[in-house]
Amino acid sequence: MQTRTALEMEQVTGNVFTNTHLRGCNPNFVTTSDGVVVIDTPQLPTKAVAMRHLAESHGPIRYLINTEHHVDHIFGNYFFRGAGTVVNHRALWERFMVVFPDLDPFAYAYESIPGDNPKGTDLDDPGAVDLWPDRDEYYADPNKGTIVFTGDLTLHAGDHTFNLLHTPGHTPGQLAVHVPEEGVVFTGDTIFSGCQTWLMTSDVAQWLDALERIRTLDFETIVPGHGPVVSRSYLDVQRSVLMEWKTAVATAIARGWTREETIERVHFRDRFGPVDIGQGYMMDHIQTLNAASLYDKLTGAIPGA
Ligand SMILES: [Zn+2]
Repeated sequence: MQTRTALEMEQVTGNVFTNTHLRGCNPNFVTTSDGVVVIDTPQLPTKAVAMRHLAESHGPIRYLINTEHHVDHIFGNYFFRGAGTVVNHRALWERFMVVFPDLDPFAYAYESIPGDNPKGTDLDDPGAVDLWPDRDEYYADPNKGTIVFTGDLTLHAGDHTFNLLHTPGHTPGQLAVHVPEEGVVFTGDTIFSGCQTWLMTSDVAQWLDALERIRTLDFETIVPGHGPVVSRSYLDVQRSVLMEWKTAVATAIARGWTREETIERVHFRDRFGPVDIGQGYMMDHIQTLNAASLYDKLTGAIPGA
């Protein structure tokens, strides 16, 4: 027996719905005169099932678009199998739930959801036990894209336009989804509003370009990958976060600090807000990996930055 978890979505504009209060990314959908378009799926299985149910109450799901390959944006796709066509940038698609030496995304999804975790002590979400897929079953069809593209892509659903813009930086396959009829751009993790920015897999120079590209679009409202909905002026805030990180690490290198000294001394624990919902325990992890990855890139150990 499963009890469906209710999910409340915040109505951003007439047809745009998001939820900025879940562990994982901000999952979204847009209602149109001919069905619904989903942008990123909830990481928590019960929330994914609940959001699908809610989205489908507005009409059939036409497209499911992911903005990046990180687990918190794609894991929930599994629970949207059979609902619409999944659309991925090629650089996202190639990394979709791929196991890397330092990260097993399936294990990460499982371990990182204590409230939903069948093994967790705080089992406040009984439906998760029945929903959690066997690993082989999951990998047999994680519901990755069947429309796979490079560059940009424009989709239409009913009377709405979805401009999928390749805006790499945070990840190589990063997308921003601009919906001009709603005056909204879904930036994915090109914007972390009011919470710590994750730089690990990033190329900061590209990321700064991505912010400038988004700035040229016609919109009023940003639905970020994490944190509350903000206005376009937040582009400047995100830009300054990236610049401060980069400058701090570049200065450390110029002073001759070692990698270890840089990691120890350069951090923004007390600035740029908390870690996003449910991940407060990862603060040190983020500071360490942000500083380390920038150090490696700026010293040429890893290209980019
Ligand atoms: Zn994210």
